[in-house]
Amino acid sequence: MSSVNASEPITVDIAVVGAGPVGLYAAYYAGFRGFTCAVMDSLTELGGQVSALYPEKLIEDVAGLPSVRGTDLVDGLRSQAARFDPRYVLGTTARSVVDTGDGLLVHTDTDTTVRCGAMIIAGGIGRFTPRPLPAGEDFLGRGLSYFVTDPAELAGMDVLVVGGGDSAFDWAIAARVVGAKVTLVHRRDRFRAHAASVSRAAELGVEILTHHEVVALEGTDRVAGARVMDMRTQEERALQAQHVIAALGFTANLSDMQSWGLTFRDRHVVVDSTMSTGVKRIWAAGDLTDYPGKVRLISVGFGEAATAVNNAAVFLDPTLDIFPGHSTENSTLAGASAAASPNL
Ligand SMILES: Cc1cc2nc3c(=O)[nH]c(=O)nc-3n(C[C@H](O)[C@H](O)[C@H](O)COP(=O)(O)OP(=O)(O)OC[C@H]3O[C@@H](n4cnc5c(N)ncnc54)[C@H](O)[C@@H]3O)c2cc1C
Repeated sequence: MSSVNASEPITVDIAVVGAGPVGLYAAYYAGFRGFTCAVMDSLTELGGQVSALYPEKLIEDVAGLPSVRGTDLVDGLRSQAARFDPRYVLGTTARSVVDTGDGLLVHTDTDTTVRCGAMIIAGGIGRFTPRPLPAGEDFLGRGLSYFVTDPAELAGMDVLVVGGGDSAFDWAIAARVVGAKVTLVHRRDRFRAHAASVSRAAELGVEILTHHEVVALEGTDRVAGARVMDMRTQEERALQAQHVIAALGFTANLSDMQSWGLTFRDRHVVVDSTMSTGVKRIWAAGDLTDYPGKVRLISVGFGEAATAVNNAAVFLDPTLDIFPGHSTENSTLAGASAAASPNL
């Protein structure tokens, strides 16, 4: 995976907005069709809703994968796209799109600009913004995070998880499984998480503090502890913590796309059967799209990504066939392929 310096101008054939499962598959498909590709996401991690909301859940309705952990699906998509080396522009929101006549210029909230011939919007339910932990934002990246890229790094640590939803319990369980001492702090005594996740966390020995809130994070260079308050008695106490995961949820916002000339229906973008938005050079795929009979599932989004990229391909190079051929025609025998691509 290659990343970019924020100030570098980026010129690619196809720009993808959104690095959720559908955007990642679109990146693979763009490469498969022989096009260069850049993928933007306002989050700092790949995986969209899967990484942000249910990383440890088992997904059971993706074709060919009877049961796959959210993070493993995202990792598989990243690996699949990696052979074509897409450029990931993370922590960056696509804000405005200008048709320059010979292409599109995508302006972002950083100083990165992306020039492309076609764009696939795989923006899901919109730009995700993590809800901050007011008591400790200064420690972000210094022991405070919204995601855990590799739970194994938490082994042996005192970990504080803040929140009561699925992702809070997913992170608590993942940290506990790798041997962290985990305390989960929640303001209420009811959880939004599935009852099964709450039971599993308790069984694994996660200490659950209800009616508590984090009032301060403490430490010098990095988080070393937290002060929590019992909201019923107002009593405070100190907890050791070398890592704090703020899993307070995300807000999703589609406002960035309002000026792109798209047609919206109930917070979704109307597309035709080619996944065209009706705006020249712009296609869409995944949860964002709307048409009669639309079903918002990962498997459906994958199909839409393939349709969108194949149609964009013919627009970019009219000598191409819309049908890409079968991937098997380009592959070597399974054994040879595995030897040549040990990471795939
Ligand atoms: C708890 C839960 C469980 C689920 N379980 C299943 C399941 O079992 N099976 C299933 O098929 N589906 C499931 N889903 C639904 C599934 O997660 C979605 O269908 C899928 O994530 C859609 O993928 P996507 O790539 O279209 O969008 P998303 O995953 O929403 O990704 C879109 C990305 O676009 C980014 N973005 C948006 N606007 C911008 C912008 N302007 N600039 C830069 N980036 C932007 C966002 O930050 C986000 O990362 C579940 C959803 C939830 C919440």
